[in-house]
Amino acid sequence: MNIFNLGGQGRASGESERATGPATCSRKGCRAGAEWQLLWNNPRIHTPDRRKVWLSCGEHRDWLEDYLQTRGLWKEILPFTASQTTANEAG
Ligand SMILES: [Zn+2]
Repeated sequence: MNIFNLGGQGRASGESERATGPATCSRKGCRAGAEWQLLWNNPRIHTPDRRKVWLSCGEHRDWLEDYLQTRGLWKEILPFTASQTTANEAG
């Protein structure tokens, strides 16, 4: 007779599955497919040549751009293609 003790099984924390699924909008709660990528940089925590990337659907591009511009973080917007990979995102 076996008794399986499941109580001690910890759940992986900080799990990130971002890179594997289909690219979707970075706007919270939005699951639309990405059409644009917004490149930004926070000079307080990033080196000047560093670029963070947010993906955006067509609907939220303006919202995200405004959000970044208001904070002085926005750099540029590029069209996002599904075949594109962010494998070069290092550091
Ligand atoms: Zn969206």
